[in-house]
Amino acid sequence: MVNYSFINKSVIKRTTIIEGIVETQSPLRIGGGRESFDPASIARDSILKDAEGKPVIPGSSWKGIFRSTGERILRLRNMVVCSGIGKDYCLNNNEMEREFERGLRGNINEALRVFWDYTCLNCKVFGTMSVIGAVRFLDSLPISYSLNTRSMIAISRSEGAVARRALVTVEYVETGSKFSFKMIGYNLPNYAIGYLVTIMKNIHDGFTQVGGHKSRGFGFVRFGKVKFTDVGEKKIGDEDIAVKDMSGLEEEDGNKFFEKMKPFMEVFNSAKIPYPKK
Ligand SMILES: [Zn+2]
Repeated sequence: MVNYSFINKSVIKRTTIIEGIVETQSPLRIGGGRESFDPASIARDSILKDAEGKPVIPGSSWKGIFRSTGERILRLRNMVVCSGIGKDYCLNNNEMEREFERGLRGNINEALRVFWDYTCLNCKVFGTMSVIGAVRFLDSLPISYSLNTRSMIAISRSEGAVARRALVTVEYVETGSKFSFKMIGYNLPNYAIGYLVTIMKNIHDGFTQVGGHKSRGFGFVRFGKVKFTDVGEKKIGDEDIAVKDMSGLEEEDGNKFFEKMKPFMEVFNSAKIPYPKK
């Protein structure tokens, strides 16, 4: 009998929190849509703001960034992984969606078995159609920030029309702005924690950019004041590998945090992940 704790959230055996600040190392742009589309005037691309007019990085953006970065990492390891976009999700790719839904209506253990065997690590960590993931990202709110604008040439292609160039005023968050960051994981095995920390380190090291205009050098961020809280069981699932308890770790310097979290990243690198089945 396989231990399904990782995907079975009916009993919370472990809660893992990674929180800290993100500091922008370049301009950052999380889009909020176009305010005016008057062709006679210069269009203005505003950033996403909260009710008080402050910039935010929504938790959903973090989830998308983590998932796509993770997908790249898993592919480099020759692991089967779906993008989770459109019809490209494991239960659909493996033609197991009906069997899974049948299990949900009747035999929950059967649903767990199907989900365990026929989904990738990303489906389990970040969720998929009708299944909530094991990790939740909170909206990142500004601690200190400044805004600026830059004029850019945008090429718009409406259907059947000739491409048109337009001057757009793009709003962005300036370099050196600081935001909160918090993610909460439930029943994560050590290797999944190591996986998430590896993704964070990819962002921190500049291998992944956040938001828009990446080709223009936007979206580099670094983590700081990082705190790791880990409550409950310290090993989840039969395939998991024990790691020494790191709960309570606090590091001002992001580099030091990733250095100290190496044992988790090593477990991710060496874990024999038994799914998805071929
Ligand atoms: Zn998947």
